[in-house]
Formats: sequence, structure tokens, C-alpha cells
Amino acid sequence: MNKKRVYLFGNGDAEGKADMRDLLGGKGANLAEMNLIGLPVPPGFTITTEVCTEYNQLGKNAVIELIKLEVEESIKKIEEATSTKFGDRDNPCLVSVRSGARVSMPGMMDTVLNLGLNDEAVVGIAKKSGNERFAWDSYRRFVQMYSDVVLGMKSNFKSEIGPFEKIIEEVKKIRGVELDTELTLTDLKELVVKFKIAVKKQTGRDFPNSPWEQLWGAICAVFDSWMNERAILYRQMYRIPEEWGTAVNVQAMVFGNMGRTSATGVAFTRDAATGEDIFNGEYLINAQGEDVVAGIRTPQQITIEGSKRWAIQQGVSEEERKVRYPSLEESMPECAKDLIAIQQKLENYFKDMQDLEFTIQDGKLWLLQTRNGKRTGTAMVKIAIDMLKQGIIDEKTVLLRQEPEKLDELLHPVFKRSALASVMPITKGLPASPGAATGKIVFHAEEAEEFVAKGEKVILCRIETSPEDLRGMAVAEGIVTARGGMTSHAAVVARGMGKCCVSAANDLQIDYKSKKMVIGGRVLLKEGDWISLNGSTGLVYAGKIETQEAELNDDFSEIMRLADKYARLEVRANADTPHDAMIARKFGAQGIGLCRTEHMFFEGDKIIAMREMILAKDENGRRYALAKLLPLQRADFIGIFEVMEGLPVTVRLLDPPLHEFVPHDEIGQKEMAQVMGISYEEIHNRVESLLEQNPMLGLRGCRLGNLYPEITEMQTRAILEAALDLKAKGIETYPEIMVPLTGILYEFLAQRKIIDDTAKVIFEERKDKIDYKVGTMIEIPRAALTAHRIATSAEFFSFGTNDLTQMTFGYSRDDVAKFLPMYLEKGILKDDPFAVLDQKGVGQLVELATKRGREVKKELKCGICGEHGGEPRSVKFYEKVGLNYVSCSPFRVPIARLAASQAAIGQNK
Ligand code: ADP
Ligand code: MG
Ligand code: MG
Repeated sequence: MNKKRVYLFGNGDAEGKADMRDLLGGKGANLAEMNLIGLPVPPGFTITTEVCTEYNQLGKNAVIELIKLEVEESIKKIEEATSTKFGDRDNPCLVSVRSGARVSMPGMMDTVLNLGLNDEAVVGIAKKSGNERFAWDSYRRFVQMYSDVVLGMKSNFKSEIGPFEKIIEEVKKIRGVELDTELTLTDLKELVVKFKIAVKKQTGRDFPNSPWEQLWGAICAVFDSWMNERAILYRQMYRIPEEWGTAVNVQAMVFGNMGRTSATGVAFTRDAATGEDIFNGEYLINAQGEDVVAGIRTPQQITIEGSKRWAIQQGVSEEERKVRYPSLEESMPECAKDLIAIQQKLENYFKDMQDLEFTIQDGKLWLLQTRNGKRTGTAMVKIAIDMLKQGIIDEKTVLLRQEPEKLDELLHPVFKRSALASVMPITKGLPASPGAATGKIVFHAEEAEEFVAKGEKVILCRIETSPEDLRGMAVAEGIVTARGGMTSHAAVVARGMGKCCVSAANDLQIDYKSKKMVIGGRVLLKEGDWISLNGSTGLVYAGKIETQEAELNDDFSEIMRLADKYARLEVRANADTPHDAMIARKFGAQGIGLCRTEHMFFEGDKIIAMREMILAKDENGRRYALAKLLPLQRADFIGIFEVMEGLPVTVRLLDPPLHEFVPHDEIGQKEMAQVMGISYEEIHNRVESLLEQNPMLGLRGCRLGNLYPEITEMQTRAILEAALDLKAKGIETYPEIMVPLTGILYEFLAQRKIIDDTAKVIFEERKDKIDYKVGTMIEIPRAALTAHRIATSAEFFSFGTNDLTQMTFGYSRDDVAKFLPMYLEKGILKDDPFAVLDQKGVGQLVELATKRGREVKKELKCGICGEHGGEPRSVKFYEKVGLNYVSCSPFRVPIARLAASQAAIGQNK
């Protein structure tokens, strides 16, 4: 009964603090902490995230009962602190009602400002402030926001403009004005009336006049918003558990819309796009709340330096800038000074880049939020390394702060220089999120999804984006918006996604209906046309521009050096060609964990010889074809071993079912008939005879090598002769021969014998020898269960978690798409087990096999080479189990190295 559900903050004191974010949400915890460190924060209180869970379990009325007293007491505290009275007609207390989950979910939850206003209080506020326009501007905002958020008047998915915006546009048109700030007092009064009529018409209910009814409506709406579609989608994308819930913050209002001496804005203590240690941000005079990010007016820069840079980018002259877009340092120097001091204090205190929200009411600065700022991958790396150099954080913190997946962005493409030489940009916007992107134009999220489903690359082109566009943004290569700034919805979300974005390309005139856009009145582009964006410069190009891989910078190298310093797990790559091996090495792979020989057979003449081997009548025929394959395969290995000089390379013997290699069409079969000098019918029959009901469980893996030992023999020869050839040239190699799909000890022993016998022959022929290892994949549950038997002969284990997952779950990898999406949607499965290792089941087999194997062979090397090899959460598990290495695709190597270091640091804590 006496569980505390509401926490107060205000006047330099607070019941909560920063490390209580689980209970108070990120916003509430930091509002408390900012109070404690003496920053100017309007007083308020936080209803805990636990109440959100109770709300979902017990329902609205029960929860209101539970917290009623505490909320009423807390409102009294706000009244005392602000010398106002909630519900009073002359001196009303106005509050904001804000959501705030443990981790920030920008744009996901809705905020209601100016709550407490009604037809009487608006008169009181007008009198008290001596500013009637301000009072009515606040009132019309309140009616609009409250109706949107609480009464469900939000514009629906398809229509572009909400009912209230439509009314505003109409009034503006009649008055012949462009900006909200140009609306007169009479206009604002008219808006309130019209808004309320719209509410009554659409909902059938009157707009609530009672502040208490308003307050409870807003509190419940915040709790409800936790379960809205946008929030659910966001949680899915960022793996935020539903159980976390959101807190509700109720806070005394401060007003940025009181006239020329008031303003509202957002700021970053460092550059969220590049990571540079430059304080930056945007603000608007005489504005409130989200005006800055909504792209309603062009926001101004906070610092003079930033303002000048912005003007150059936008082609605004210095005179015009000073008059129309002065920086905060110029327009309100005292407040700017305070803000600069505070941002420094906040960053020093939280020891990370802060994203803050502030409001200036009549010349006084108030802080409304601070949080660790979202940033691009480039900024993530740079900020951490800079802070290390500045002595703010230590090496382990640097590593733990990296989001492994985000490193991907540093590895992302840039435009090919040669391709750029011949194209001219058609317009320029702000460089909102770096990288280069090229794709076909789409204007709506739904179309983006449709195009992408057909295998197309798209660029989402919008006047501005809102959370409804999230799905489209997620699948697009890049995003360009006509309005907004560096902190607009599009910019913030794109940076979070690591996606290229150009915002504020003012030249774009987009017509959603006809699906066309005109650029600077000259160029006309329509849906499906190619467009290219450079999110690092803000330039937009018509047409397709080829992209190329990014070049890795020094900060990145430094992160990788640190990662290797702390990581225990080795990171290898899955690579089948010298080219892939080269990329892997460049990214710091410590060897190749999986070289799939079958991929080599598809190139050039090799496929013909391969088909000849498969379609041969008998062993003699096969040996004849294998003799042709030997030099080709040996050359393949020479190429790879050479690139991987000094590092181990695990080569897997032929694995897939043979029917995958043979032609199933008439033309292909006739060609083979000619090559082999036998009839088409005979070829046709042999191809037919290779078909299996269930090839995944059929004649494949070491079953092939045991049925046709000459294949294993040839491959062993190719591997060891390649190694010997290179040894003769002074190049060190460490070949590891891997037997696929072992299930029974004797299967492995039979293969091992062929390999060792062949090696003996080769070493005698060559009068030279080389060290090699023979090991096996563990990908059949029986192999995992009998690992202690197999380990008596195998020198290493490599867990093939793709097949192991397939066979442990009994899900065919090829058919899983039929039901997996449904399982994920219904929550029967939390993750796709083919993407994230199933630690509870498949992982147990990995752990057990490692343990049993090492019981008979202490030094048994164990690694993983499935798709799961580079998946950060799975890497933590491999660390715990004590594997020696993970192997993943070349581009994931840096991510895996980082994840390995984090796992090691986490393990040692
Ligand atoms: P979000 O989580 O989407 O950032 P917030 O709760 O931070 O939403 O609210 C959005 C904006 O509303 C804030 O950035 C701030 O400008 C404004 N705001 C919120 N509470 C207040 C308040 N008490 N006084 C003045 N402005 C406020
Ligand atoms: Mg917001
Ligand atoms: Mg905010």
C-alpha cells in the first residue's frame, strides 16, 4: 500500500536521481539530477514506469485510484514552488505532461503543453502576463495538442495534413500570412473556437474545461501511448522490452512564446554527425515545444560560428543572416552565455555528449531535458576517442560505449570519385546524417516498402518526416526532406539508423498527389526516377551515382587497436576468394574460419569439370574429371593462402548436395552430353537420379567424401600442394582441413584416414612437408552429444550454427520463411534463431560439445562459423562458453572484434 509511485523534483532538490532511470525513465531521472546539480529546471514530478505496468494490468480507473493522492499532493508542491494554483481562473498553474521511457524514444510518445488552460484561465493568464496574444497562442496550442494526443484527433496515416493544421492553413490563407507568429490575437481566438468545433464534430464530445479532467486524461494518454503502433514498432526495431513501460512527467510550464525575449531550442554538446567537439544547436524566438524540430519555421543557430557556417551552406548572405537569422549569442547574449556554461557542466557531469532541450522565458533560461545524445557511427567513434584523449573516460569505457552495429556506418559507401566528376548537384540541403546513397525516388513510406520488396533501392523524399514514416525510413537507402533542420525528426531518426539524410533542401517542391517534385523550378523528377544524396555535404544529385567503400580513419583504427587489446576471442572471417580474404585482412581478421570450397567450383571452366565429375559413370570417370579440377582448385588455394600469409585458413571439404551443381535445363544437359561424349538421355537420367526428397538431410557433407573418397583425396592434394608451393617461395601457411557434417566418430575417422594417407603420399613425392590440422564442423546434434568421442581424433571443432540451428529446431532453412514471421509476430519466438543464436537450446549444444571435447583434449580449438559468428549478443555467449574464435563475413569483422572486447570486459567485471 505504501509503495512510492510519484517522485518530486524542483528548487534544487529531488527525490530521484540519474541512476534511477529504470524507475523514473531517462527524462525523469535526469530532470531530478539536473535539479540536484543546481541547474534551472521547472519544478514537477515523475510517475514511475512501474505504474505504467500496473496500468496495463489493472486498467485506468484502478490506477488512478492508486496514485490519486500522491498526484494531488505533488501538484500542491508545484503550486507552492510557482506561486500559482491549479484550476484557478486568475492565477492558474499550467503544466506539461511528458512521457519518458528508460531509453529515449524520440518522437514516439506525445507531450501535452499548457495543460490547465480553459476559457477562464486564458483570461487570467492574459491579465497576469499582460500579454494577451501569448495567452491565446498557448491556449490554441493546448487545445490542438490535447485533442491530438488525448482525444485521438491525430491525422490518420494516409492524409498528409491533420485537421488542426488544415484549419490553421485556412485562416492563414484568408489573412494572407505565412508564419504562425504573424497570426493576430483575433486569429488565435478564432482558431480556438474552430478547433473546439472540430473536436465536437469528430469525437462527439466537448473539449474538457476542467483542469483535473485534462490532467488525468493526459496522464492516461501517456500510458496508452506506450502501446500505440509507433511505439511498438520502435521497440521492435531497437529491442526494447514491453515490460519496461514509460514514466509520466508533470512539470510546471515555462514559456518560450511570450514574445521577442522568449525562445525555445535544442542543443548538442558536440556535433552529433561528425563527433567534433563543437557546441551546436538550434532555437526559435517566440516559439514553444517542438516548433524547432517540426520544421515550421527555419530554426536559427545558437553559436555565431555555427550560424555563419549555416549561412554559407544555405547561401544566405551575412547581412541577411544578421537580420533574419541571428545566432542566440547575438540575439540573447546573456542567455547564450548561461547555456554555454551549462552545456559544459552537463557534459562534464555525465561524461558523455549531451542532447539538451531548453526554453527561455522572458530572458531567463530553463533546462527541460538532457540525455546522452544519439549520434552517427562516425561521431560515436570520434567522441569516445576524443574523450579518452581529454581524460574524461578510460579505455574500457570507450569500448563499452561503442554500439557494434553502428561501426557499420564507417564502413558504408561513399560516392565514387570518378562518378562524381561528371555530375552536377541539383540542390543542396543540410548534411543531416553522413554517407552516400543512391536509389529510386519514392514519396511515401508505403511505397518505399513496396519498392524495396521488389528488390529496388529507394530514397524517401518528403517535405518533412514524422514517426509515421519510420517504416519507410527503415528500408530506404537515404532520406531527403524539403524542410526541417539538423535536429528535425528526419535528421535525428536517420542518424540513429545510421542512414544517409539530407534535410532542409528548401529548393524541393514536392507534390505528394502527383508523385512529382520540382527542384528550384527547373528540374522535374517523379516517382521511380533515380536520385543520389550525400549526407556528409548535403548535396543532392539527379540520377544514379556509383558508390564505393569508405576509407577507414585513425579514430576507427584506434578503437580497433583497443578492441584487440581487451578481446580474448579471436576473430576470423568466412571467405572463399582472395578478394574476400583481402577485405577480411584489411578489417583485421586473424585468419579464415571458413573457406567454402564449393563456391570455387562455379567460376569459369571449373563448373564444367565439376559437372563431369558428378555425372561420371564410375570411379574412373570421376578421377578423370577430378584430375582436371586439381590444378584449378590448387590455384584457388594458392591465391587465398598467399593473402592470408602467416595466418590459419580453415578449408571445408565439399559440402552441398551434388544436384546443386548440375544443369537442370535441357540446354545445359545437352552441353554436358557433348562435353562428355554421351547421350543427352543418359545425362538427363543421371541428373534425375541425383534428386532427393530432402537434400538438406541427404547425400551431402562428409557423406559425399565417404561415398566418393577420391573427392576428399583431390581436395586434400590441392590444399597441401598449394601450401607446399608457397612454402617453397618462403610464404608461411597454416592449413586446417575441415570435415563437414560429421555425426558419427567413424565418419570422421574414415575421412581423416583419407586425408592423412594422401598427405603422406604428397610429402613423399615432394620430399617436403608441412604442418596441417584436421578437424570437423559440429553441426549435427549427434556430433555435439558425442563430442568427447569425436575429439579423440579431431584437432578442432567449428560449430556450424546454421545447420545446427536447422537440425536442433527441425526448421528447414529454406522453408522457414513460411511461418517464422508469424512466430515472431505472435511472440512465440523472440528472435529469428538463424540470425541470433538460440542460447537456451542450440547454445546448450555448443557449450556441451565444447566441454565434452575439451575433457578428452584440453587444447581442442573451438570456434563458430555460422551466420551467428558476428552477432554481438551471440558473441557474449561465445565468450562465456570459452570458445577460441568466431568467424563471420569480412564486413562484420570489425563489429565482431569490438563485440569480443566488450564481451571480455563484461566477463571480467
Ligand atoms: P520528447 O520526449 O518528444 O522530446 P518532451 O517531453 O521533451 O518530448 O517535450 C517536447 C518539448 O516540449 C520539449 O522539448 C520542450 O521544448 C517542451 N516542453 C516540455 N515540457 C515543458 C515545460 N514544462 N515548459 C516548457 N516547455 C516544455
Ligand atoms: Mg518530441
Ligand atoms: Mg524532449
